[in-house]
Amino acid sequence: MNQNGTTYGVITDIQRFSLHDGPGIRTSVFFKGCNLNCAWCHNPETISFAPEVIVDPEKCIGCGKCDEGCYSGARREVGRRFSAEELMTEILQDKDYYGKTGGVTLTGGEVTCQPEFAYEILKQCQSAGIGRAIETMSRSSAKARASEKR
Ligand code: SF4
Repeated sequence: MNQNGTTYGVITDIQRFSLHDGPGIRTSVFFKGCNLNCAWCHNPETISFAPEVIVDPEKCIGCGKCDEGCYSGARREVGRRFSAEELMTEILQDKDYYGKTGGVTLTGGEVTCQPEFAYEILKQCQSAGIGRAIETMSRSSAKARASEKR
C-alpha cells in the first residue's frame, strides 16, 4: 500500500538467522495475508490480512483479565504495519551475516498479495547488495491484491 509516497505492508514476524528458507543465513520476513485457506497451513496466523489479536486456547486459563494484559501468554497481537524504510532498517541490521550465499526471504502468508510492498523491499535489498528470495504459490487473486490498497 502506498500512502504519501511511502510504501507500507503488514508483517507478522521477522525471523533472524534462518537456515531453512533458502541458501545460507537469511532473514525471513513473514507477510500477513493469503487468498487461500489451506487446511494444512503451517502459519495460519498469516491468512487474514489485517493485524489481529489471537488467543491460544491451550494456554488460556480463563481469568477474564484480557484488558489488563495476558500473564499466561495466551493472548497476543499478530501483525504489525511497517513502512518499507522501517523494514529495511531491520533487514540491514543482519547484512553482515549473509555472506555470499545468504540474504532475505520474503514468505508468509502470500507475498504477492502485497505486491507493491514486496517489490519495494526487493528493490531496496538489491540496491544494498542483499540476496533475495520469495516463497510464493504464485496464485494471488486480484481481489486479494486489492486488499493491499485498503
Ligand atoms: S488474559 Fe489471557 S489467560 Fe486470561 S482470559 Fe484473557 S486470554 Fe485467557
